[in-house]
Amino acid sequence: MYRAPIRELRFVIHELIGDRHLSGAQGLADYSEELADAVLDQAARFAEEVLAPLNRIGDVAGAKWTPDGVRMPPEYKNAYAQYARDGWPQLRVPAEVGGQGAPAILGTAVEELWASANLAFKLCPMLSQAAIEAIHRCGSDEQRRRYLPKLISGEWTGTMNLTEAQAGSDLGAIKTRAVPDGGRYRIFGQKIFITYGDHDYTSNIVHMVLARIEGAPAGTKGISMFIVPKVLVNADGTLGARNDVSCVSIEHKLGIHASPTCVLSYGDGEGAVGELVGEPNHGLEYMFIMMNAARLAVGLEGYAVAERAYQHALAYARERVQGRAPRTHASAADEALPIVHHPDVRRMLLAMKAYADAARALALYASLQLDLAEHHDDAAIRAAALARGELLIPIVKGWSTETGILAASLGIQVHGGMGFIEETGAAQYLRDVRITTIYEGTTGIQANDLLGRKLGRDDGAALQAFIDEIETQLSALQAPDAGVARAVKATAEAVAQWRNVSRTLLRSYDETPEAALAVAVPYLMMSGIVIGAWLMTKSLDIAARQHARDAAFYGGKRQIARYYLEHVLPEAAALAKVIGAGGGSIVDADPALL
Ligand SMILES: Cc1cc2nc3c(=O)[nH]c(=O)nc-3n(C[C@H](O)[C@H](O)[C@H](O)COP(=O)(O)OP(=O)(O)OC[C@H]3O[C@@H](n4cnc5c(N)ncnc54)[C@H](O)[C@@H]3O)c2cc1C
Repeated sequence: MYRAPIRELRFVIHELIGDRHLSGAQGLADYSEELADAVLDQAARFAEEVLAPLNRIGDVAGAKWTPDGVRMPPEYKNAYAQYARDGWPQLRVPAEVGGQGAPAILGTAVEELWASANLAFKLCPMLSQAAIEAIHRCGSDEQRRRYLPKLISGEWTGTMNLTEAQAGSDLGAIKTRAVPDGGRYRIFGQKIFITYGDHDYTSNIVHMVLARIEGAPAGTKGISMFIVPKVLVNADGTLGARNDVSCVSIEHKLGIHASPTCVLSYGDGEGAVGELVGEPNHGLEYMFIMMNAARLAVGLEGYAVAERAYQHALAYARERVQGRAPRTHASAADEALPIVHHPDVRRMLLAMKAYADAARALALYASLQLDLAEHHDDAAIRAAALARGELLIPIVKGWSTETGILAASLGIQVHGGMGFIEETGAAQYLRDVRITTIYEGTTGIQANDLLGRKLGRDDGAALQAFIDEIETQLSALQAPDAGVARAVKATAEAVAQWRNVSRTLLRSYDETPEAALAVAVPYLMMSGIVIGAWLMTKSLDIAARQHARDAAFYGGKRQIARYYLEHVLPEAAALAKVIGAGGGSIVDADPALL
């Protein structure tokens, strides 16, 4: 049974990260702690009562392709209808276009609950949100008027159509054609792997399609963005004829079975009618505007599934009786006990929770930066927050999803043989979370982005400013006990090492980019671990001070922070060694000899 970690979310948002920085910010006049708590409570109910019980049903039943379109499990159709009726699609939509204008920090917290409860379901609203943002930010007034109200009400859903067979990580290779036809375009081509590219939740689907206008420059500079609805929309907003786009098949996948992954064929007949969004050849630029939100939304999936897998494994470990307690244990040595009493099982559970807690704190901290970048009154603070938020996004995406996989795998191990058996449900978490390091840019692509773009573009200035602030905060901490003092020391050492490694790697990127990129993923992982340590040290400090107020909760926080700092943080030093050794062994490896 899934229980939304509301107490934990409140702790991170209000006490650790400090959403008070947002009160009174431009466009967030209504935001308050009380409002955030009320939204979280409602979201928790929907996640626990409606979405979570469907997770396994969707895994077993899956989405089904038929010649008349994709059919979703009926329980999912009902859940989607309730989701729309309850107004959830409006949560993150700006107030000026009819949404509730919630800040990213609250949106991230709520989306975690959807992703923990039912990852396959969550992807549909996530993609609609991306389509809404694309049309809102880059579309014309007429396009906003025609498409936004129904997307925002949830009556229609949206998709993002980037990938083609020859164009995955490299979108410059996109071949889908757009042929001018009066004021519109005719789209011809095939898109693959399109999430919720077809379904029967709603009467229409608005596809945001990247294509190349005939005669456009080659590569990334010649890509435009189009709105291509499944059913054409008349000027008065009513539905017209079927457009020339069809779902020719759906993929059979390792996980997220209730999320249809579609092959969409455009223009088998006269060409699908498409409307250009914004200017020709600016399609990838528009995608980049939405990239931060999209990568954050996938990054959170990693720790959301880790949290769910943890809860599942903990419940099993408390029930499954196997073996005797170690001799030093307080209880009688001969008594058979639940496996949670075995130190190694507790180690695995603590590791799962530590990954989830640290990644959650990082994602919510990054969300706050995006909020400050958008809403703060002071332009200098807005610019600094944007630089920091953008620096953190590839780490949120890459590190949270890689550790999400580790956590889900440990969840199986806690179950022993039963973890390998589908009925327990532990395996589904690993199968579902496995995609998160791949879509929305693989971990390798995130690492390239972190090193090449985020550090490379300002010679590491945003990173150095971030490290300066972490160091200032750590040295200002008046450690209330020896545990916090030890944590501050260990974290400060790791942060200093991270600063040095970053400088060296940037230099190496200038001189021998191939060798530097060969160790970009270890660098991304080290960055996640060290930032996680900073947030865990802050948690430990707060927990030590607040312990008397709620001993059960803050006692748990202290335990998990201590585990992280003693068992996860040391990995940063090992990764620093790997990065220091450089990518020579990889660059020198002849592909022919592999
Ligand atoms: C279930 C699912 C849902 C999806 N949903 C959508 C969707 O809704 N819309 C959409 O447009 N797409 C979607 N995708 C596509 C997804 O975004 C791509 O699969 C992903 O970007 C990777 O592209 P690829 O599969 O072609 O892998 P490739 O690009 O072929 O990559 C293969 C390997 O090479 C590595 N690699 C490639 N280039 C580089 C590089 N420059 N540097 C270092 N390493 C590199 C990768 O990291 C990876 O390990 C989905 C995919 C799946 C499986």
